Amino acid sequence: MAYTLINTRPASRVASDTSPTALAAAQRVLVDSHNRRVSYLRLSVTDRCDLRCTYCMPERMTFLPRKDVLSFEELDELVTAFASFGVDKLRITGGEPLVRKDIMELMARFSRHLGNGLNELTMTTNGTLLSKYAGDLSAIGVRRINVSLDTLKRDLFEKIARRDMLDDVLRGIDAAIAVGIKVKINAVALHNTNEQEIPDLIRFAHERGADITLIETMPMGEAETDRVEDFLSLNTVRKELEQQFTLTDLDFKTGGPARYVKVAETGGRLGFITPLTHNFCESCNRVRLTCTGRLYTCLGREDGADLREALRSDPSGIKLREAILGAIERKPKGHDFDAARLATPASPRNMSTTGG
Ligand code: SAM
Ligand code: SF4
Repeated sequence: MAYTLINTRPASRVASDTSPTALAAAQRVLVDSHNRRVSYLRLSVTDRCDLRCTYCMPERMTFLPRKDVLSFEELDELVTAFASFGVDKLRITGGEPLVRKDIMELMARFSRHLGNGLNELTMTTNGTLLSKYAGDLSAIGVRRINVSLDTLKRDLFEKIARRDMLDDVLRGIDAAIAVGIKVKINAVALHNTNEQEIPDLIRFAHERGADITLIETMPMGEAETDRVEDFLSLNTVRKELEQQFTLTDLDFKTGGPARYVKVAETGGRLGFITPLTHNFCESCNRVRLTCTGRLYTCLGREDGADLREALRSDPSGIKLREAILGAIERKPKGHDFDAARLATPASPRNMSTTGG
């Protein structure tokens, strides 16, 4: 296998034994065959959720049997392996991460890598349980958090999320801000649904000192909605917004695929994530790991590795390191999302399985 080696131990050691095992032991950072450094892991700790957003999953979603889900010890071992490969940013996601039992115990385990491998531990949440956990998250070193919020209207929230929980989310956002966590709002832009409300969402976020990012719907997994009907191009949204806001492109990057603008009227930042109208793969620095230990090296493709098998079959950890290196080596150049083919999922996995 032709692993890309940079920043490794002395070359002489590598040169003397070039077996995959020796290379796996020597490698310190993950670089794929397209010369992209992988430094960001998004880890889904559960596929379960207390909402049922229509674009994400069906009402009667079949969740994984609990026995298939990795234990805290196993998740911790995986995070430790990635941190030892120079992955310095860890985002916890799901499903809804805060519904996993004893989630704060798990977060506390991960937090011991902060300053010791990890530079950032963060989370993407729907916010329904955030008022309960904001203080604990801040205490273990979480400084930034993404909260998904597609509407400020209670009836529309219930229509999109199929649960009447807008007030819980708003309380959660306030609680996070109150303990000093920097909040970013994520909103999926939906044609004829929250389309007219986007300016209000921008004002809502910016009044609270929060950034906001708009996301195009992605054809992931089966949903009960019509993805073609729901799809709203962010090019169109931007043109509409320019009728009432002055938008200036920014160089600002958070390590993610969003392209940011400054909104002069509110003084805040607005991001656009456009997987369908603009491909963001050339600078991709991330991989995703499901709660069953399946590593996906591209959001829209099946490539990856079964890390649970590697983890459970070899206590020495060598198989795990080899499996990670092999998967990174095979990381695809880009996803295959295509606005013309929205009706059929580009990936059979729901976003809640892979971790958005
Ligand atoms: N439950 C948490 C939440 O909603 O923030 C974390 C997991 S959720 C899968 C992560 C993000 O993916 C959310 O912002 C959600 O809106 C987004 N998402 C889910 N399905 C999507 C789809 N088909 N297209 C685009 N974004 C999607
Ligand atoms: Fe749950 Fe997040 Fe999917 Fe909504 S987007 S159903 S909150 S996992």
